[in-house]
Order: sequence, then structure tokens, then C-alpha cells
Amino acid sequence: MSAPIGRFAPTPSGRMHLGNVFAALIAWLSVRSRNGTMILRMEDLDIQRTCPENARLLREDLLWLGLDWDTEAQPQSQRTAVYQAYFDRLQASGLLYPCYCTRNQLHSVNAPHLSDGTYIYSGTCRNLTDSQRAAFDRAPAWRVQVPDRQWTVEDLLQGIYEENLATDCGDFVVRRSDGLFVYQLAVTVDDGLSGVTEVVRGTDLLSSAPRQMFLQELFSFPHPTYGHVPLLLAPDGRRLSKRDRDLDLGYLRSRCSAEQLIGLLAHTAGLLPQPEVISARELVDLFSWDLLRPDSIVIDTALLVP
Ligand code: GLU
Repeated sequence: MSAPIGRFAPTPSGRMHLGNVFAALIAWLSVRSRNGTMILRMEDLDIQRTCPENARLLREDLLWLGLDWDTEAQPQSQRTAVYQAYFDRLQASGLLYPCYCTRNQLHSVNAPHLSDGTYIYSGTCRNLTDSQRAAFDRAPAWRVQVPDRQWTVEDLLQGIYEENLATDCGDFVVRRSDGLFVYQLAVTVDDGLSGVTEVVRGTDLLSSAPRQMFLQELFSFPHPTYGHVPLLLAPDGRRLSKRDRDLDLGYLRSRCSAEQLIGLLAHTAGLLPQPEVISARELVDLFSWDLLRPDSIVIDTALLVP
């Protein structure tokens, strides 16, 4: 098997929390244990929510953790022309249509999506006539028509995940009404053009994989291997998020060493029988996907920050 090309694809909307570090560690170990290449890509498409200072801190935090990369890709905020070219391809193939539904309509009319808390789009705007479209006085979002077909993700950790986009998701937005290209399009184009062969990230994105596989086929990109790592839960059972500043790296870096943190996460992942003080580099030879657990994990932060 040839050496993998993996990536870190953080959104610089805040400091990394432990869950982000966990996913980054596994992505890095998987690539480094097979002499692969690691790409860092800032997913700063939404410039309202992201900023260069957060991107700087992300790089610095990754290096502090000992998680390095070989190349940094152009940040997504600078790639509008590339996404536009792929959007135009979809447009030319007749698969796109404008959607005028408001946010309220979307959430009240459509059934909830099975897994990611959004909705299954029922196709309200799919067959509007030109005159119906002309009657709206607002800019539309653009949706791609999905086929009635089963997509199967053979995940390195979660096993088989299946979704029929037509019934489980519906036609999805590739460009928002404010003109922003959405994550699903940008990530597919960027991973595809940079030759990424392995996508390792949190399980909250597992349900995005079928949408990305569909776009990969439309753009003639090969499917990468997917590995969706478990989410970490705080001791009180809540999911870690960037809002929980108490578990972000700004807080943790002032209270423990990188090696303590890496050792705790490696133990949490199933790579070490006990938490120990160990560097990411020292874990490379111990790494195996077979040792990892698929389910959500409660992280005992008291071990780090008593
Ligand atoms: N930018 C996304 C995030 O920070 C990750 C995207 C991906 O790994 O596909 O949640």
C-alpha cells in the first residue's frame, strides 16, 4: 500500500479543545506510522466566524503538541475562484437549482436529518418554474440534486455507515444565499485536488461522508479512506465544544505539558494501558487502528488539571 496523504483541516473559529486535539493526534499517528504526508489546511471559509489570530494559535498549538505537517495548503478563504469553477461544473451538468426557502421554512417543513441535527430537504424548490423563481425578490441558495442510491462508508473505526442521500438527506446546499460556498463542496474540492487519501476527523462528520463521496464521483476524484474518531465527553457527560473554554488549549497549556496531554489522550484512545508522560513521536510505533475504540469517551480531565 502506498504512503497515505492525510490532513488536519481545522476551522480557526477558536482555540482547539481536547476533542479536536484527539482527532488531530489520531490523524497524525495514522499518517506518520506509515511514512505518509500531512497537510494542514485552514478551513476559514466563513470569515465572519474565523480570524488569522486563531489560525496562528492553531499552528502554534499543533507544534506544541508535537503534531507537525509537511505542507500548508492555501486557506479556503483564498480559494473562491477554485470553488466557483467546480460549482460551474455542477451548474453545467444541470444538477443545481436555486432554493428560496427561508431558514424557518426549512426547519418547520422538513423532517429532521437522521444523524446530524439538521433536516431532510423535501425538494420544495426543485421543480419551480422560471416565473415562480422570478417572483422571489431575494438571492437563492443553490442545491445539488442527489440520486436515489445507497452510499456506503467503510470506516476504519465506525465500520459500515450507510446513507441514501435521497431519503436520508435530500438535495443539499453547495452555495449559500450570501454567496459563500459550503463546507461540503470546499472540502471535497480541496481534498481531491491535494490528493488526500485518508480523512480522519470526529464522528460528528461521519454523516457528511456520503455527501462528499457523491461530490467526489461528480468531480472524478477517488474516494479517500475514512476514519471517524469518537467524540470526547466532559466528565459531566456533555460534548466538548469550543465554547467550553475550560478544556481548550489556552487553558490546558498553562497547566500541563504536551506529553501529559498526549499520554492521557493515547490512554483514552486505547493505545496505552495507563496514562503516561509520552510524546506524540514516541507513540508512532505503538499506533494501530485496531487498538482504538469507536464509541464516545468520557475524558477524565482531573488527571491533567487536578
Ligand atoms: N473544518 C472542520 C472542523 O473543524 C473539519 C473538516 C473535516 O475534517 O472534514 O470541524
